[in-house]
Amino acid sequence: MNDENCGVCPRCSASVQIACEDAKRRLITAYGKVSEEEYARLISVAARDRNTLSVALRECCEVYMSEAGVLSVYYGCTCEVCGFKHEFNHKEDINASEKPQSQTE
Ligand SMILES: [Zn+2]
Repeated sequence: MNDENCGVCPRCSASVQIACEDAKRRLITAYGKVSEEEYARLISVAARDRNTLSVALRECCEVYMSEAGVLSVYYGCTCEVCGFKHEFNHKEDINASEKPQSQTE
């Protein structure tokens, strides 16, 4: 099984939230003290929410069982905006040659 998806990057999401909260704080004292353009920019940043985030996290996932009985699980992702990366790779020998126990014994 091999699957590729796109998602929202957790690092980008956190940075939008921080920028949004910072802009909200600055708006309280900025009125009349910053240019009209800067005030409009702060309003637009403060109004941003996670729905405006681009779907820039490329995700790849692969899960399979080999004929030798090794279960392989791989997950990898890369953000095209900020470069965030994460990988998870796990292999497990599930000892498939062991005879299953009968339910009637
Ligand atoms: Zn990102």
